[in-house]
Amino acid sequence: MSYNSRNQRDSATINQKNQAVFNVEGVKVYYGGFLALLDVHLQIPDKEIIAFIGPSGCGKSTLLRCFNRMNDLIPGAKVEGRLHYRDRNIYDSRINSVKLRRQVGMVFQRPNPFPKSIYENIAFSPRANGYKGNLDELVENSLRRAAIWNEVKDKLKAKGTALSGGQQQRLCIARAIAMKPDVLLMDEPCSALDPISTRQVEELCLELKEQYTIIMVTHNMQQASRVADWTAFFNTEIDEYGKRRGKLVEFSPTVQMFNSPNTQEAQEYISGRFG
Ligand code: ADP
Repeated sequence: MSYNSRNQRDSATINQKNQAVFNVEGVKVYYGGFLALLDVHLQIPDKEIIAFIGPSGCGKSTLLRCFNRMNDLIPGAKVEGRLHYRDRNIYDSRINSVKLRRQVGMVFQRPNPFPKSIYENIAFSPRANGYKGNLDELVENSLRRAAIWNEVKDKLKAKGTALSGGQQQRLCIARAIAMKPDVLLMDEPCSALDPISTRQVEELCLELKEQYTIIMVTHNMQQASRVADWTAFFNTEIDEYGKRRGKLVEFSPTVQMFNSPNTQEAQEYISGRFG
């Protein structure tokens, strides 16, 4: 089955799937005094791929970083509202954000392998976190799950940074998987990759969603339509001081978003009238 038709099939069955993994209620994000993202309400379904689309600066990455409190690492960033991850408010002061980031892993735009061997790229963090199982097995399984084992199994001692860009990105996905996460956040994971590597990462995401919820920021609408079950469309509006702030406009099943969105704004964006 082609992966397009697989996606269509999956989209048709979303209503029978599980409950929300994240429940976002009235989340606002400020950078200093600037309200960058306005009042988001959203439920992220479990074991699905969710794409965030919209023009630059509309808050997609900002919201993505809320899901594992990465915004905590940005000086001046402030998150208001409630964001529940499996019934826990992750902005509760008792939440351990380091532990949260193990459950909600992140893959960045530019592949960022450690300047270590391929093996150590996978083994380093689990070992540092006291992993008691067989590290060789964990390395192999993670690389297999990320569909890169066959390409690297004979050179596990080679530097991760010596791999091609597409391989490095799959290595980074393997590294994230090795921590046994529940959710993978991906911030434009293919924007630095060639079309073949992009295709491989997309195929991989479709495999991985059997086990993980994947939330992906993408500027590539074809990519969203190929891989995502659900699509969130963000846009900007001008505030009373003339500043642009981001907002979530529509969250719909991808097939609906790209064929008959509920909002005029999404319709105009998807048909290329702006953005
Ligand atoms: P997108 O991912 O949709 O391109 P971002 O989430 O990166 O949008 O940015 C949303 C808004 O927040 C933009 O106006 C951007 O300039 C601002 N912003 C993002 N990151 C920071 C930051 N670290 N400090 C200050 N402003 C930021």
